[in-house]
Amino acid sequence: MLNFLKQVADYTRESFQAARYIGQGLSVTFDHMQRRPITVQYPYEKLIPSERFRGRIHFEFDKCISCEVCVRVCPINLPVVDWEFDKAAKKKTLKHYSIDFGVCIFCGNCVEYCPTNCLSMTEEYELSTYDRHELNHDSVAMGRLPYKVNLDPMVTPLPELVYLPKGVMEPHELPSDTRRAGLVPSEIVEETGENGKNDRRKP
Ligand code: SF4
Ligand code: SF4
Repeated sequence: MLNFLKQVADYTRESFQAARYIGQGLSVTFDHMQRRPITVQYPYEKLIPSERFRGRIHFEFDKCISCEVCVRVCPINLPVVDWEFDKAAKKKTLKHYSIDFGVCIFCGNCVEYCPTNCLSMTEEYELSTYDRHELNHDSVAMGRLPYKVNLDPMVTPLPELVYLPKGVMEPHELPSDTRRAGLVPSEIVEETGENGKNDRRKP
């Protein structure tokens, strides 16, 4: 008899536990039914990358002086700078430049330290291939500028989270003239002055 009562007690406890877990699961489901979907329908919709997004690197062949600073500051010595010394002109002549984006960690060191600013980070992030060796870009591939998301007629650009007004999480159907949270880079330059001399935020 005691054994039977223990079994009934166990069964009742487990039933209540199961009901509680189902209730918890459904509460999450019902909570999400109140929310609007914020799924980006890629590739028909794309998020506009933020200003300081570090995407595929752009290279300007004519500005490169073959100094190899980019190689020395790269944590994995990745850029390949192929040059030869022109005895007549007494200077290096760049023959070939490449970066393997299948290995690059997009830290931006090479861009920061390049003395002639011939490297820059772009907003291009669509670098998927079936073979990572295809991501070894030469100077021609790196010289191509990416197509801006907000200029592509085939794509609906959506403001990234950083561009949304304060407290807004949903970029769909937001009027294009909506004021974003925070300042845009040009406003920061205006506020701080060219060298930060007008910066009121300084102590
Ligand atoms: S972004 Fe970083 S890892 Fe990539 S090439 Fe430049 S320094 Fe090297
Ligand atoms: S640091 Fe700049 S100028 Fe020097 S080799 Fe690299 S890309 Fe060329």
